[in-house]
Amino acid sequence: SFCASFSLILLDSKAQQTELEWISYPPNGWEEISGLDENYTPIRTYQVCQVMEPNQNNWLRTNWVEKGDAQRIFVELKFTLRDCNSLPGVVGTCKETFNLYYQETDSEVGRGLRENQYVKIDTIAADESFTQGDLGERKMKLNTEVRIIGPLARRGFYLAFQDVGACIALVSVKVYYKKCWSIIENLATFPDTVTGSEFSSLVEVEGVCVSDAEEEADNSPKMHCSAEGEWLVPIGKCICRAGFHQKGDACEPCGRGFYKSSSQDLQCSRCPAHSFNDREGSWRCDCEDGYYRALSDPPSVACTRPPSAPQNLVYNINQTTVGLEWSPPADTGGRNDVSYRVICRRCSWEPEECAPCGPNVGYSPAQSGLVDTYVTVVELLAHANYTFEVEAVNGVSELSRTQRLFAAVSIATGQAGKDFTPCSRSLYFYHSAVFSDPPSPSQVSEVIKEKVQQRSVQLSWQEPQQPNGVITEYEIKYYEKDQKDRIYSTVRSRSTSATVNNLKPSTAYVFQIRAFTEAGYGTFGPRLEITTKEEATAAIVSSEQNPVIIIAVVAVAGTIILVFMVFGFIIGRRHCGYSKADQEGDEELYFQFKFPGTKTYIDPETYEDPNRAVHQFAKELDASCIKIERVIGAGEFGEVCSGRLKLPGKRDVAVAIKTLKVGYTDKQRRDFLCEASIMGQFDHPNVVHLEGVVTRGKPVMIVIEYMENGSLDAFLRKHDGQFTVIQLVGMLRGIAAGMRYLSDMGYVHRDLAARNILVNSNLVCKVSDFGLSRVIDDDPEAVYTTTGGKIPVRWTAPEAIQYRKFTSASDAWSYGIVMWEVMSYGERPYWDMSNQDVIKAIEEGYRLPAPMDCPPGLHQLMLDCWQKDRAERPKFDQIVGILDKMIRNPNTLKTPVGTCTRPISPLLDQSTPDFTAFRSVGEWLEAIKMERYRDNFTAAGYSSLEAVARMSIEDVMSLGISLVGHQKKIMSSIQTTRAQMLHLHGTGVQV
Ligand code: AMP
Repeated sequence: SFCASFSLILLDSKAQQTELEWISYPPNGWEEISGLDENYTPIRTYQVCQVMEPNQNNWLRTNWVEKGDAQRIFVELKFTLRDCNSLPGVVGTCKETFNLYYQETDSEVGRGLRENQYVKIDTIAADESFTQGDLGERKMKLNTEVRIIGPLARRGFYLAFQDVGACIALVSVKVYYKKCWSIIENLATFPDTVTGSEFSSLVEVEGVCVSDAEEEADNSPKMHCSAEGEWLVPIGKCICRAGFHQKGDACEPCGRGFYKSSSQDLQCSRCPAHSFNDREGSWRCDCEDGYYRALSDPPSVACTRPPSAPQNLVYNINQTTVGLEWSPPADTGGRNDVSYRVICRRCSWEPEECAPCGPNVGYSPAQSGLVDTYVTVVELLAHANYTFEVEAVNGVSELSRTQRLFAAVSIATGQAGKDFTPCSRSLYFYHSAVFSDPPSPSQVSEVIKEKVQQRSVQLSWQEPQQPNGVITEYEIKYYEKDQKDRIYSTVRSRSTSATVNNLKPSTAYVFQIRAFTEAGYGTFGPRLEITTKEEATAAIVSSEQNPVIIIAVVAVAGTIILVFMVFGFIIGRRHCGYSKADQEGDEELYFQFKFPGTKTYIDPETYEDPNRAVHQFAKELDASCIKIERVIGAGEFGEVCSGRLKLPGKRDVAVAIKTLKVGYTDKQRRDFLCEASIMGQFDHPNVVHLEGVVTRGKPVMIVIEYMENGSLDAFLRKHDGQFTVIQLVGMLRGIAAGMRYLSDMGYVHRDLAARNILVNSNLVCKVSDFGLSRVIDDDPEAVYTTTGGKIPVRWTAPEAIQYRKFTSASDAWSYGIVMWEVMSYGERPYWDMSNQDVIKAIEEGYRLPAPMDCPPGLHQLMLDCWQKDRAERPKFDQIVGILDKMIRNPNTLKTPVGTCTRPISPLLDQSTPDFTAFRSVGEWLEAIKMERYRDNFTAAGYSSLEAVARMSIEDVMSLGISLVGHQKKIMSSIQTTRAQMLHLHGTGVQV
């Protein structure tokens, strides 16, 4: 039907109040007549009723319609048609149909009407032209018919109506086409797009990344505009570039104190230890003073500093050989790449002047890069005085320009070849400052608080004692004293004073100042603590404190619920009911939040009071927030409608509304709300989301997110053959992810089937239909089994059928069936075999064959789900993993050439075909409505059903049957027959 939300109107006869002035020929045929529509709005209609005379040929042509960018046009006609039986004496001349035509032209043509220029669209008949009125009289009904024309090639067209002797009133003609409206999806903008020209075609559209986003590598964003004007199948995406993170449909800069180093990262991260930044949108954080990042350090690691000096340096002399040994430094600087180097210097005795030892001295194992804490220095001169400095270095030592920290020892060697006790030895450690570059300014130490206010602080200071150059700038760094993660802010000033604004009132801040010259920054001066003044207005509770209180309340309440539930469970079993205290007031407390922290599904049946269960897990909605728009289906308890939900302060959203029909019993109400109690516990993108319930008014309603494309089985049948394998696998991946979530929660679905999966406009599949036994009672597929209870046999694992062993492993079996349903576009599992035959076949080891064009890897996964031993079946997280891998490596999803020629059922080769149901190829083709190919079969020599039963898909194709849908229909019928034959003959089966 016509839906204004994604349609563009080209012509609407009802919208025009003046005369339409379409061309009518001959003049006594169609006549323009004013009328009133059902709302008493004046409308223009065309009517003709020449039912008495034979050979009528009355034409009516619309004005020229410019098609704009449309390719496929919808024509919606509203009309009434008189039933010839109601007109006495018109037998033989009266007709009950008319014909719809169109003519394409590039511009308006004259008012002459030439029949042969028109292309026929269809013969239009009334679907239900008359209904029986209350008193038995016949009432005329307004019919609506929609026809689609296209692809259109010219700039515009005319529509024409040919009457051949009917009594018609054409009430409205509306011509429109559909567009996918511009949207943002996966951070990419997709422009308004006109739908394709063919019904089945999806128009592929490239997305453009929103600002500060970029395309993910090899995964550029695309979407598909369906013929219905809906966006489908988003592929690829944009991601926020470094320094930006996603917020809704946009990329926002990382806040101060946060960074994001790569577009691949999802979130901004807090600056790692010893680093900071004071800009928004940073891709990295700068190191604090004295801390560094080595070239190879990723932005995510903490800034580090050079190690302290090695400890406990000892030596040992043997003539002209000195062994040195030490312990690692107390502070490694935060790194684990510490190594050591030795500097040897030979000193004169008096005065002590030292020079490098030079290349004649040997070091074992090496002079630098030492990993172990010892070295042997050989080839020293006899009777000489040496100083050895042992320095610990790490990956950032080279970057540090300030201090070298080392342990040193001075030693006098003995005579070569003779034992010698050193005459002078002194062991000492010292820190020496070695500046290789021009010195930076000294500290800014004298800082004065000029003015302290609620939100600002004014400071002034003295130039440092040793500026060591011209000071061009000062940097004032400050942070909230009580803040756990020190997020610094900085202010710069060219003079020796500055005002720091935007502070919080009555908050302690720490300030430090350093000077900047050509040589770089000096070190920060001492920390100065200043508390801002109190806010003048009283009684404003700091907003930061509130969440703590709320969290505490939630936590306490959560504990109460947990306790209640444990006791409720134990006590409830023994005496029905619950204490008065719990009954009313507390309930209010429970509504507003979900059970905190829990990840386990709670069976609503453990609640004695169903009302409490539903309010535990579902939000009570105000009925006035819900607008019901139309009926979309029938549920077990009442109608399912679509509509909109508008919660205060939120945008209105499309919802599905399940209603409980009036006159329900208590048990029906309980069972109805049970689904909400279950659904409300789930929160996952692949599980249908509950918006809330209305229990305090009538009708009782369950409000669920709207899933535009309805149930998966019907959706696939409607779009038979229209998706790529990747798209189908994407749907399966979604279902598996939803099931992984449910099984992690400990929830066993028991009725997983494509009919219980809902699909939204983005082709996202979500698991639905929750309930206890009633869901299955409600399922038309479920049948009573000998073990009692109803079971949807084709979808259920053997152990669940035999002894009601329902587990996540039996859900995995059902998942395998869903895979098969999806890959075969909604084919019925085991075709029209009877339930008894299905049970028998499964018991004998038969498994469904791969659907047409199904990649072998997927069929293998189905077979794994259908392992007899349930412990052998894959878990849902494994299934998700396998599907993800396939999606990442689309090559694994290619169907190797020739797959289709495999024997579709292994049984076939062992049995003699016996088409008991049909006597000839012709009869069989007729039964499957493919009789149009009778000649193709005959011409290729397939004269017997036995020959047909051996046909492969290639054989079918070689007959010249090119429509994929027909190939499938024929192949699936051949397969069915084979499967049935198997059971008739009881032949041995293999998988
Ligand atoms: P149910 O009682 O859940 O089987 O729902 C009956 C029918 O209503 C389904 O087969 C769907 O076609 C439709 N329906 C149920 N829930 C939704 C929903 N959330 N969005 C759209 N259609 C729905």
